[in-house]
Amino acid sequence: MMKILVLGAGPAGSSCAIQLLKAGHAVSIIDRTELPRHAPGETLHPGIEPLLKQLGALDDVLNADFIRHQGIENIRNGISTYKAYNAEENWKGFQVFREEFDTLLLNKAIELGASFHSGVTPIKVNYVADSISSIETATDKFEADYFIDATGRRAWLANNFNIGFKEYSPKQIAYYGYVSDSNLRPENPQLIWDEKGWTWISQVKDNLTAWVYLNLRKHEKVKADWVPKWLADGKSTSSIKAVNVTWKKAKTCCKENCFLAGDAAFILDPGSSHGILKALMSGIMIAHLISKSDDYPNSVIENHYNQWIDSQFNDDIFILKEIYKAFQVKDTANVSTT
Ligand SMILES: Cc1cc2nc3c(=O)[nH]c(=O)nc-3n(C[C@H](O)[C@H](O)[C@H](O)COP(=O)(O)OP(=O)(O)OC[C@H]3O[C@@H](n4cnc5c(N)ncnc54)[C@H](O)[C@@H]3O)c2cc1C
Repeated sequence: MMKILVLGAGPAGSSCAIQLLKAGHAVSIIDRTELPRHAPGETLHPGIEPLLKQLGALDDVLNADFIRHQGIENIRNGISTYKAYNAEENWKGFQVFREEFDTLLLNKAIELGASFHSGVTPIKVNYVADSISSIETATDKFEADYFIDATGRRAWLANNFNIGFKEYSPKQIAYYGYVSDSNLRPENPQLIWDEKGWTWISQVKDNLTAWVYLNLRKHEKVKADWVPKWLADGKSTSSIKAVNVTWKKAKTCCKENCFLAGDAAFILDPGSSHGILKALMSGIMIAHLISKSDDYPNSVIENHYNQWIDSQFNDDIFILKEIYKAFQVKDTANVSTT
């Protein structure tokens, strides 16, 4: 049995913890915020179902009664094209509310025996030779065999362990917000294109519509009270948030006894549309590799994980570049992913 410290209780951290606990390891999770906490990103592709099943969380997610949808509506020049995920087999995605979804996964990890520390900020990393030996918070010291950075875009441990990042696109800032009482409550999420970029509109609760806007031409700040014109009849329920979604990837996603999971490993703009699915996949993959660590030298595990992350990243970049061709996002079109 090994001891693992997971930093971050988002989908990447919780899925990794669940899978490690199921393999018989001892897991502590720390998160700097008090949970439940809000996070953007509500649309889940149906491909998430087998992963949730593997984690033993599918029934809980189904019982949570999240809104389901069967496909995506793409709207360009006023013309709408609907694409079902898989009409024959009636595949359905989820419109989850992240407070609920993330808590549900975390609760599963706690139920399996994770020791969870909420509102706890790591402040110091200690090393023995080149490996991490422990992480300190203001009140505790966590020793472990493996350390998982699942702190999302902050990549706290990666930054403290001097793992650099490489950017693969021009600077991109996505804006997002929520609107109630709008007449636009689409049955399926809508991706609406205009001359500048795209707006994603999805219904996340009975009377709550989420939007995300990304200008692909250049970075233009939007005003604090801005809402996409299609939702102008509604009331904003929160202030607009801006998030840096410049494409970036860690130079290595596994170094010594440290793994990077989910957004801590790489970030693409939400147009890639499956950050949560990837967070779960990476959490599960790391748990699998740690469980195999007695059978292989560290270099094999390191190479395997890095190659796996590279293939995920390169596949997504390939698709995004195809989708964005019309926008001639110069740097992204010329980007090298090696
Ligand atoms: C505007 C927007 C819309 C999106 N829409 C979608 C979508 O529709 N579908 C989809 O699949 N994906 C979407 N995404 C992407 C998705 O939100 C992320 O890919 C996903 O949240 C990544 O999960 P994670 O567990 O890696 O990180 P996170 O969900 O960010 O979780 C990280 C956790 O780490 C904690 N933490 C941070 N710093 C520290 C620290 N120093 N110490 C301890 N804990 C720390 C945080 O409090 C948090 O709980 C969207 C992203 C954006 C920005």
